[in-house]
Amino acid sequence: MSFKGEYRSANLEQRLSDNEVLCNLSPRNCKMKEGQTGFCGVRGNRNGRLVTYTYGKGVHLTEELIETEAIYHFAPGAKILSLGNIGCNLNCQYCQNWKTSQAKFVEDKDVHSFTPESIVETALRHNIKVLSWTYNDPVVWHEFVIDTAKLAKEAGIYNLYKSACFITDEALDELLPHIDIFSVSIKAIDEVYYRKLTTGWLQPVLDATKKIYQAGKHLEVSNLMITDISDNEQSARNMASWVLENLGPEVPLHFVRFHPEYRMRETVRTPLDRLEKAQVIAKDMGLQHVYLGNVANTKATSSYCSSCEAKLIHRFGLTAHYENLNNDGSCGNCGNPSHFKALDLKESAKNTFAELPAKDLIRHAYEWRGDITSLHVQVKNPTDQTATIYYRAQKKKKGPWTEVLMGPGESYRFILAKWDTNETGQEIALPEFITSNLFEVFDRAHFPTISIEEDVSDNDRTALPKFEGKQIPEKLKLSLAEPNS
Ligand code: SF4
Repeated sequence: MSFKGEYRSANLEQRLSDNEVLCNLSPRNCKMKEGQTGFCGVRGNRNGRLVTYTYGKGVHLTEELIETEAIYHFAPGAKILSLGNIGCNLNCQYCQNWKTSQAKFVEDKDVHSFTPESIVETALRHNIKVLSWTYNDPVVWHEFVIDTAKLAKEAGIYNLYKSACFITDEALDELLPHIDIFSVSIKAIDEVYYRKLTTGWLQPVLDATKKIYQAGKHLEVSNLMITDISDNEQSARNMASWVLENLGPEVPLHFVRFHPEYRMRETVRTPLDRLEKAQVIAKDMGLQHVYLGNVANTKATSSYCSSCEAKLIHRFGLTAHYENLNNDGSCGNCGNPSHFKALDLKESAKNTFAELPAKDLIRHAYEWRGDITSLHVQVKNPTDQTATIYYRAQKKKKGPWTEVLMGPGESYRFILAKWDTNETGQEIALPEFITSNLFEVFDRAHFPTISIEEDVSDNDRTALPKFEGKQIPEKLKLSLAEPNS
């Protein structure tokens, strides 16, 4: 099966002479002759009309936590249903989702079919109140995002859009009414590096981010700090100053740690002290909420009151623990506005049990290793009956079991996140007829496609997983020259 087997008409078409079409979804404005596809590989010209090849086609949907999306001030700790598609209008040299974002690498086994109705139904069944459009960029899933987001809204579900926002003004106008929460990744604040690193250009991203802020949407901004490229003090200053001048001091800014991936493997993770320095600089310049991303055991991910410095939310990895926050989002100690919203979503509706309530379950144990602090569990119920699976954290004092209910025939992915340093692993208990796979999640918004069973042997317990490096052809490696300015 090729994901290009079926297609449907696309929005933002401009018809040209000689049966050519122009796509006005992203600033690339690809012009396509009959039969051609655009840069993203998922939109094309069929019979002189612009089409999308990926309506309803994406990677496995996954239950995660809202912190996965660099959103810290909207419903901390809430469950989200993550939805990723295939193809991308950028080609970032360090992309951690390159196997699905670059259409030429997509494998049939990673492509699943959905309808707006099936997605809303899954979210409701698992008591999830936020859909997250994420992983590779949702811009190129435009029509499906809008149709599903409309339906979700009618069902009382919020929509979160995690994107580079390399999008045209017209496309953003179509999108804005349907999205509640934006996590915008400004991948570099320097125009030259933006082009080198992403193949896109910066100004449309900045324009879109300003427009989102002016529309009153919940907005958080992240900026990847790449080792020896954009992890310097001047870059942090430029980033903070742009947020202050164009958005506002209350907008959360996340400096995100980079790890070597895709075409940028010949380097190391961003040194922590450079990230910490960036955080200090941005706070000193007047930003009230500055965080570090892709780091686990540090106070740089927790939320503090910008007035009295009381700790409001403690975070470890992707988890959030409420400490001192009023229900209206203000500081529980001094009442200062701390810009948190939708705190009513924090309650998890999952049942927990001190003892396993069902017998005859097969138990699997996973040990945390290296920098890994979360895991995707993919399970499939092949029967026509409902089924329940259970999981719990492994630590000295055993925690309770939590249940996940599965519908007949359902295939489901969900995240398990490490809560603190005392936790050594996770345990999962399944009926014998449920099939399962485990995937290690290296960083936020990473959608792993290779399961532990395929990628790691028993004697391969290295501190840092090698992560699919073996498949990269030599010719794809890029060397980044110094920018001209
Ligand atoms: S969405 Fe795809 S086809 Fe349309 S302009 Fe962007 S890269 Fe080109």
